[in-house]
Amino acid sequence: MKLKTKIQLFSSLFMILLLLIINAAIYILFYKTSSDGELEELLDQTNIIATALNESDDVLTNDLLRAFLPSDGMIRIINDDSTFIHQLTRKKDYLNQEVIYTDSEIKNIYDLNGEKMAVVSKPIIWEDGQVVTLEVSKHLVILEKNMSILFYVLIIAAVFMLIPTMLASKMLSGFLLRPIHEFIKTMNENMTAKKWQRLRLKKRSKDEMYEMGKTFNHMITKLEENFHKQEAFVSDASHELKTPIAIIKSYAQLLKRRGLEHPDIFTESVDAIHSESDRMQKLVEQLLLLAKNEANVLQEKVNFNNICENIVHKISGVHSRELRLSMDKVNIVRGNKEQLQQIVYILIMNALKYSEREIDIRLYSQTDDVIFQVEDYGIGISKKDQDRIFDRFYRVDKARSRDSGGTGLGLAIAKEIAELHGGTLSVESEKDKGSIFTLKLPKYH
Ligand code: ADP
Repeated sequence: MKLKTKIQLFSSLFMILLLLIINAAIYILFYKTSSDGELEELLDQTNIIATALNESDDVLTNDLLRAFLPSDGMIRIINDDSTFIHQLTRKKDYLNQEVIYTDSEIKNIYDLNGEKMAVVSKPIIWEDGQVVTLEVSKHLVILEKNMSILFYVLIIAAVFMLIPTMLASKMLSGFLLRPIHEFIKTMNENMTAKKWQRLRLKKRSKDEMYEMGKTFNHMITKLEENFHKQEAFVSDASHELKTPIAIIKSYAQLLKRRGLEHPDIFTESVDAIHSESDRMQKLVEQLLLLAKNEANVLQEKVNFNNICENIVHKISGVHSRELRLSMDKVNIVRGNKEQLQQIVYILIMNALKYSEREIDIRLYSQTDDVIFQVEDYGIGISKKDQDRIFDRFYRVDKARSRDSGGTGLGLAIAKEIAELHGGTLSVESEKDKGSIFTLKLPKYH
């Protein structure tokens, strides 16, 4: 069922139910007060008849009762054995009325063949000293008429109230659903035509629909950005992989043609194939790392001092360069230990690659952050390149980076890990003087 139909159906049903309850309450209340009034009036008349019966010695009882007989009713005097002393009526149907002897006052309304009858019974002392029942009944013609008029008035009023309600619910559903229809249309267009269309939002009404539209547009912008990033990433990655494959292929062909006769070509080719496949392996590993980082959840308590000490120790074992490490006593952060090790490793390895002198590594705490810095005194990075070195596959000097086994992915990975940890990675550098890479992470509290 469509949302529009649901809204209309629900509001109409709700209104019908409400009108039913209100109208039924009005109907019952009116009936109750009117019938109570009629009964009171009949009781008064019964009392008058009883007094008249008491006081009239010289008038015949039958004549007296006839004088009081209602035009649409009946008067009966009933003995305690349910026989009649008198029974007067102008309508024979009323004779079917049940005979009830009572020694207490009763007033009642009941249905006699579809007609509403008011009956008042009252005990009186009869001429022979016996207690008999004086019963006066009256057909409630006016009440019946009023009730039927009220019934039709209420039905007509209900219909008149339902029409505007239905119109209003139609308008409301149209008003509410218009933006949703636009959403659906835009989404369908985006899907079928592979477009990145946004919704046109009217600033006038800053309601929930406007907020929803704004969120939708924001989502489309993010999706578009990510899509283009992914596209660029895939094309960069395949481009980067193509080069080593082409080199391996051409050396393999060279080997095939002349490798057996020329041992120098053989050695050169095998070396090149080996180093290119190394590069490819590193590239693939780093690509996988990038994909993995995004999905990792980080929560453990990590002692950054241990990370620095371990990595500096390991690197010092294989490189002869001086690594000067200075640390505050305790520096604890929250996150993923392996990922944090990667950043430290990437930054120190870069400093080694792009400088030839000693390297300063610092780790200290500020009020809310832990700061890790790697400073080298090497080739440095020009201002224009500083903004781009964190982009995937960006290398300032392609040839140099290539020679040193660089892929252009290290800093992109490091920056991504830093951001995943709620931190930042930045660089200060001057060409030919050196660089300082600063990692800032929130302190573990
Ligand atoms: P690569 O694998 O090429 O080193 P990175 O993403 O780690 O890739 O670095 C991107 C580029 O930033 C490098 O190619 C290099 O040009 C520059 N770079 C990174 N670290 C330094 C540094 N300490 N000094 C000078 N240049 C650097």
